[in-house]
Amino acid sequence: MTEPDFFDEGDLVGVLTTQPLDRVLDYKAPEGGCWRGAFVEVPLGPRKVLGVVWGRGKGDYDRSRVRSVIRVLDVAPMREEMRSFLKRAGDYTLTPRPAMLRLATRAPGLGDPPSMQKIYRLGSTEPDRMTDARTRVLEVLRDYGGLAFTLKELAEMAGVSTGVVKGLVKQGAVLEEDRPRDLPFPTLDPDHGGKALADDQAEAAEALRASVRTGTYGTTLLRGVTGSGKTEVYLEAIAECLRQGRQALVLLPEIALTAEFLTRVEARFGAKPAEWHSGVTMTERRRIWKMVGQGGAQMVIGARSALFLPFQNLGLIVVDEEHDTSYKQEDGVLYNARDMAVLRASICGARVVLASATPSLESWTNAEAGKYDKLTLTSRFGESVLPDMKAIDMRGEKLPSDRWISGTLQRAVLERIEKGEQALLFINRRGYAPVTICRACGHQIACDHCDARMVEHRFQKRLVCHQCGESKPMPEVCPNCGAEGRMAPVGPGVERLTEEAEKLFPDARVVTLSSDLFGSARALKAQIEEIAKGGADIIIGTQLVAKGHNFPLLTLVGVIDADLGLQGSDLRAAERTFQLMRQVAGRAGRSERKGLALLQSYQPEHPVIRAILAGDEEGFWRAEAEERRQAGVPPFGRMAGIVLSSPDVQEVFDLGTEMARRSAPLRQIGAQVFGPAPAPIARIRGRHRVRLLVKADKGAPLQAALAKWVGQFKLSNQVRLSVDIDPQSFL
Ligand SMILES: [Zn+2]
Ligand SMILES: [Zn+2]
Repeated sequence: MTEPDFFDEGDLVGVLTTQPLDRVLDYKAPEGGCWRGAFVEVPLGPRKVLGVVWGRGKGDYDRSRVRSVIRVLDVAPMREEMRSFLKRAGDYTLTPRPAMLRLATRAPGLGDPPSMQKIYRLGSTEPDRMTDARTRVLEVLRDYGGLAFTLKELAEMAGVSTGVVKGLVKQGAVLEEDRPRDLPFPTLDPDHGGKALADDQAEAAEALRASVRTGTYGTTLLRGVTGSGKTEVYLEAIAECLRQGRQALVLLPEIALTAEFLTRVEARFGAKPAEWHSGVTMTERRRIWKMVGQGGAQMVIGARSALFLPFQNLGLIVVDEEHDTSYKQEDGVLYNARDMAVLRASICGARVVLASATPSLESWTNAEAGKYDKLTLTSRFGESVLPDMKAIDMRGEKLPSDRWISGTLQRAVLERIEKGEQALLFINRRGYAPVTICRACGHQIACDHCDARMVEHRFQKRLVCHQCGESKPMPEVCPNCGAEGRMAPVGPGVERLTEEAEKLFPDARVVTLSSDLFGSARALKAQIEEIAKGGADIIIGTQLVAKGHNFPLLTLVGVIDADLGLQGSDLRAAERTFQLMRQVAGRAGRSERKGLALLQSYQPEHPVIRAILAGDEEGFWRAEAEERRQAGVPPFGRMAGIVLSSPDVQEVFDLGTEMARRSAPLRQIGAQVFGPAPAPIARIRGRHRVRLLVKADKGAPLQAALAKWVGQFKLSNQVRLSVDIDPQSFL
């Protein structure tokens, strides 16, 4: 029986709500009927909740007691492709439907009637008395030829108080009107400001344009070293998508990058696109959600959750820096935005562009296998070239234990500063020191709630747990042996490195870039602009600096501890180190000046370090792929991580053991279960954590088996179970 598209008043409809229930509930269609996919408000117990008409009602409930849908919301109904996307994404990540629906309705007040706001435009009468302030207001309005502004915008642009504008309203020189708050976004012009492209860019852009014109699904891996002009290339794909009258979505890994990118989009298309991320106000979120659904937003730039916006006609998804680990949601619904972008596009017939200088092994493998198209930008745009890369063998440097900048690196930095250039010292550790130890008894200060050591943040004068955020003042007295004044920092963090650099280079201007040192994205952006203009000689930075920022004067990168990422049992450790080192090194010499990257390492003969230095990317990926193929791990096999947590350590271990024992559904598909074992971080926020790993062959129906397996166990209220398909990290 096919599902009807429209339900008449009184028909039984199944409504999926955002409430954590394990089924779709029956309701009667309201007066006037409703479409399948309609967003509705329904009664649930004493409350009114948001839901979507998912299909025909089951009718397995006493009909006389079935309640009616309260009302249909005034927003575009959910499209069939979106429902299909939510279903398949939920099945893939083993996420219940209501949680998927919550992802798709992350905007407040969807059911509210359109709210109005006051706007101001030029009136026809002259004020009785002119002042400088009044003149400025009228000039702004005349300059913008009939455009209207909010009170705040107008006052700011004219540099006057809001009282001046109000005064002009009384005189009739300025008109005050009401207009709906949720307005369409300005139209983007695909032919506004195209840039001249280098030959290989032009070729790649044409290939992407042609693929967009097909109007069918396909994924392209767009590779190019830092500074090769990937952005200009995929902006041309977006232009073509806009010409086709379809919508484009660009995912960026970090909010801090958005501002710079918005400027480029505005230069290319003559107006700003919609911007969706955690820093956007609730009102703006609602506006974007509605406009995307009505076709009033042609382009969205956003964080991974933008994938769940109700696009009306999505034609292109760009995932920039596709290898970035922040695309994997690590709490709540565990999904990888890159994979979900591909899924969504395949459902709605859109193109995907995965852009990266150092692609993930998954994408590299898919491109090698011909599943993805491959475009590679070889030359760097403009004059710049990739920096030279060299290792500094730390075994020969003989540094005292409280210093980390080797003599070789120090000399290289001095040389650059003397030439008026900039140097970046990179360390991927926030805070002052990763460990605080008592010199009397050897006690290390750990978090009370987590299995983690507290990190000293001298700037904030506190010890901070990087797992749970708990902090406490630095103790005067050892909490273990009571010795006074014997607590000492061990190892370097970005703040301690800054201290060392300030001592070594007393005349240099040293700036620290670490995400926790900035109150807001705006403050960070201002600092970055200041550096780009030459406002610093030495930049001390964490991972934050590895991403996309452009410092034209920067010609030297010193990596303080290139070995840091190589430790640990994570199967992606090598891949991540390779990507991070390549990216950091890519910061040097992005303009005409030739760059140099120096990697301090105690094991310069390590294959990963050697591959980085040789710049032999293909060789690295091939070797890494072969190792994973041998081990049968992703992307050549399938994995799932199961984490059980509870305040009661015995309870989680008992449950873990029980799960390992009763694993018949997994064994039936040939999957293996490893564990239970304490998770690498065995306690977070007072909850003990136990982990099981499931490994299966590539073609095995893993999700179905997992669902069956997990479904056998009844969990107590205090136990939490999370399933992570294709885990990115093993914490
Ligand atoms: Zn002690
Ligand atoms: Zn903690």
